[in-house]
Amino acid sequence: MIHILFLIFGFLAGSFANVCILRLPKNEDVFLKRSACQHCSKQIEWYLNIPIFSYLYLSGKSKCCGKELSKQYPIIELSTGILFLINSLLFNLIQSITLDLIFFVVLLIIVIDFKERVIFDFMNYFLILSGIIVSIIMPDLNPLNISTLNAMITGIIGFSLFFALRYLFQKKRNVEALGMGDVYLIAGLGVWLGFEKFLYILSISSFLGIFYYLLVGKKEENFEIPYGSALGISFILIFYFTKII
Ligand SMILES: [Zn+2]
Repeated sequence: MIHILFLIFGFLAGSFANVCILRLPKNEDVFLKRSACQHCSKQIEWYLNIPIFSYLYLSGKSKCCGKELSKQYPIIELSTGILFLINSLLFNLIQSITLDLIFFVVLLIIVIDFKERVIFDFMNYFLILSGIIVSIIMPDLNPLNISTLNAMITGIIGFSLFFALRYLFQKKRNVEALGMGDVYLIAGLGVWLGFEKFLYILSISSFLGIFYYLLVGKKEENFEIPYGSALGISFILIFYFTKII
């Protein structure tokens, strides 16, 4: 029963994630503004704003002007629901609530970096601070149970490594291979993972990045790998694999 609650809560969180993904890059308010149609800007009635169900009920078309609704809505709602459900199945109650919150932020980073090639500083700071605070106050909240020393050292190593890479590429090749967003992000994820898993995230994310480049990037000129997205996906996978394997 509790798992169904987590699934539904995940759908609702996913609905809010959609709002954040659309509005944060445009610097718009995510709490107060009512949702409006992407095509004709008409306000959307509450009963047409129910995650997943409204999309199915409307068969993917807006009610006001009959235009196609972005598939992003149901995909994000469903993904968040599934993440929250898996968390509740794999981890104990307080751990799964903690991971819901962390994965929610990581999901925003994944999608916003993928769509806009931007990573917001405040999300990175949130990951760094929350990881350190949890390691001090209640390390059990993190299923990987990382000590404060481990968290701090891994964060610093991640930051220094990526900062050095960024600097070298800029100096030698005059390209921005890694943005400052990636540098802070690896620190934030490292704080939650600890040093051992930090090595995993480096290899899995590089693999994903190269794979994506070969798949789509090769054909485009000036293609930028959304490396923040690759890091975020690897981060979530590591938590699941650690528990399952
Ligand atoms: Zn409309």
